[in-house]
Amino acid sequence: MQAMTASDGCENCGAPYHISLACCQYCDIPIPGRVAGIRCPQCTEVATSDARVCGVCSFAFTKGCVFCGHAAFLTAPACPGCREAFDGAEARKRQRDEAASRAQTMGLAAQGISVLGQVAGSSTGQSLLGGLFDMIIKSNG
Ligand SMILES: [Zn+2]
Ligand SMILES: [Zn+2]
Ligand SMILES: [Zn+2]
Repeated sequence: MQAMTASDGCENCGAPYHISLACCQYCDIPIPGRVAGIRCPQCTEVATSDARVCGVCSFAFTKGCVFCGHAAFLTAPACPGCREAFDGAEARKRQRDEAASRAQTMGLAAQGISVLGQVAGSSTGQSLLGGLFDMIIKSNG
C-alpha cells in the first residue's frame, strides 16, 4: 500500500491545483481530499462543495429568492428563507404579482366608488354627478 503523499499539482497533467476547485482545472481529474460541489455553469470547472463563487470565472453559485430575496445555493431545491421551491419560482412569482396587481386595481376601483359615493352625498357632488350623467347621456345620444 502506497502512502498518500502531499502533492501540490495534478498527477495527470502536473498543473497546480486551484484553491477552490475539486477537479483539475485542465484535465478534470478529481483532486484527492477535496469534496466536489457544483460544476460551474459558466466555465464548467468543478468547484469544491463549500465554494459559493467560482474560483475561476467568479460566477456566483448562489441565487436570490424571487420571493424574499434570501440568497441560496444554486443546487438548493427550495429557499432556506421562505421555503418556496425554486422550481418554477419565477413563473409563480409572476402569477402572484399579476394577481396582486389585479387585486390592487379592484381595490382602487372600490375606493373610487366609495369616493364617488361620498361626493354624491354632498350637495356640490350631486350637481357634479348630475353634470357627469348629463354628459354621459348626451354622448350616448
Ligand atoms: Zn490535470
Ligand atoms: Zn466558473
Ligand atoms: Zn425565499
